[in-house]
Amino acid sequence: MTPAPGPAPLDGNAAAGPLSAVLTGDATLAVACCSGCGVAAVLATASVFRSAMGTVVRCSRCAGVLVVVVERPGGTVVSAHGCSWIRVRA
Ligand SMILES: [Zn+2]
Repeated sequence: MTPAPGPAPLDGNAAAGPLSAVLTGDATLAVACCSGCGVAAVLATASVFRSAMGTVVRCSRCAGVLVVVVERPGGTVVSAHGCSWIRVRA
């Protein structure tokens, strides 16, 4: 794949500031848009299933998987592959 013309990309450290601003606060107040059905709702209204394997957050309308959180010895892994976007409170 040929990179798009324009400025050279920065390394991941350049995202530290914006990501630090996003990854704090009460996550249940964040609004997530389900990539399955398109509904946008605060995460507090989603359906959550917890087990020893981790936490699965499902859309309250279509039951599609929005977010998966797995706590591991080396850190916590978060996948939000079922969300088109997530808006956090400023
Ligand atoms: Zn949905």
